[in-house]
Amino acid sequence: MDTNALLRQLPSVDEALKYAPLQKLSEIHGHRIVADAIRDSLEATRLAVLEETLPFIEINAIFADMEIRVDEVVKAGLRPVINATGVVLHTNLGRSPLAERAVQRVHDVIANYNTLEYDLRLGGRGQRTKHLETILQKLTGAEAAIAVNNNAAAVLLILQTLCQDKEVIVSRGELIEIGGAFRIPDVMTASGATLKEVGTTNKTHLSDYANGINENTGAIMKVHTSNYRIVGYTEAVEIDELRQLATQHRLPLFHNLGSGTFVDLAAFGVHDEPTVKQAVMSGADLVSFSGDKLLGGAQAGIIVGKREYIDQLKKAPLMRALRLDKMTIAALEETLTLYLDEKSAWSEIPILAMLAMPTEKIKERSERFVAKLREANIEASVEATKAVMGGGSTPTKVFDSYGIAIAATKRMSPSQLADALRRLDRAVIGRIENDTYYLDLRTVKETEEALIIAGLLELLGDEEDA
Ligand SMILES: *Cc1c(COP(=O)(O)O)cnc(C)c1O
Repeated sequence: MDTNALLRQLPSVDEALKYAPLQKLSEIHGHRIVADAIRDSLEATRLAVLEETLPFIEINAIFADMEIRVDEVVKAGLRPVINATGVVLHTNLGRSPLAERAVQRVHDVIANYNTLEYDLRLGGRGQRTKHLETILQKLTGAEAAIAVNNNAAAVLLILQTLCQDKEVIVSRGELIEIGGAFRIPDVMTASGATLKEVGTTNKTHLSDYANGINENTGAIMKVHTSNYRIVGYTEAVEIDELRQLATQHRLPLFHNLGSGTFVDLAAFGVHDEPTVKQAVMSGADLVSFSGDKLLGGAQAGIIVGKREYIDQLKKAPLMRALRLDKMTIAALEETLTLYLDEKSAWSEIPILAMLAMPTEKIKERSERFVAKLREANIEASVEATKAVMGGGSTPTKVFDSYGIAIAATKRMSPSQLADALRRLDRAVIGRIENDTYYLDLRTVKETEEALIIAGLLELLGDEEDA
């Protein structure tokens, strides 16, 4: 058949829009998205015809291609997924999910006018920074507090405001890079402060800090080595020892705590994450940490400490560029409120509830899950696995856990299964190890289990009949 005859067989955009499944999609996602997908699909087919790579027109295949294109566009946006990796703080999957109460609070605040910068008692202008400060004072014992876009911004704000054109002393063992190109030396450069490295990679003594001080020193900074550990022949100087040196030389002392937690994690074998309150009590003038790591709130960088320094940060020009949005303030305020009663924190903040979930309970859930798969002749088993915290926290800590192992089948390899599960309406993200696909229920809500099972049944169910 000649090219023109083939092209004439293609439907018009309007004709395609009348095809029932595409019409349905148009009702759900709007005319524009579907019409654009139809046009893109027709264009691709026309090209294939003109290049003579498509010898005949199959109208159903063209409609199917249009549907796939709509699906791809719709799914390209920011959307929820099911985290079945077992990694509690998964940076690529949005770090910590919010507590239900925090979600509700965000909704209430942003769907209405609110007191973002309004003082109800005075009936006039209020301070945006006031909202989180009171509760942070209560929780940490610090004199003052402020929050910005993230912990990287917090460090930048501190260094630029308090140490521009001055030297900041940091141990060589703490010159870290956090994922996404946050590197201490680079942030230092961007801030206009000069990095003064002291000590060695594995050992830094108090005398190294002391010898590093000169008339141009602006501060001493300690950095939590969040995502790696130096082990073996090592020595680091803790904040309480640095405190004396800083006081003696009248220097501010900063502690970038990294993750920052408000609860003691020792019961879970995590011994190198002091609480924010402990960090403040150790004597740092400013302590900074993230809002969406172990705290379990929204993306933010929180700074607590001495009023004289926090006041300077509040007035800094950079503060206007780094300040928090009302959604984040609402989410953090409600999350922090949960910490006023530690029991509420453990039960209502998702990441804490996941950490505290007994391994036995995960095993039981996994066994029930596997039983349902077996009813549909899907081969799966429960295996002991190791879980990690993730998100740049406690890198060496490994937790015992259980995973659901789904071996390769005739129909699907583990990587094909992973692809197919990612394409479900509610994408499921698991992990592949030793040619086996694993689902870890520690990070899966019980209400999400049915969705995963339905997806697996659709993809692998009753294989013998296939
Ligand atoms: C995670 C982390 C950061 C970056 O924090 P964000 O909130 O992601 O910007 C900086 N420093 C340390 C030590 C960290 O652990």
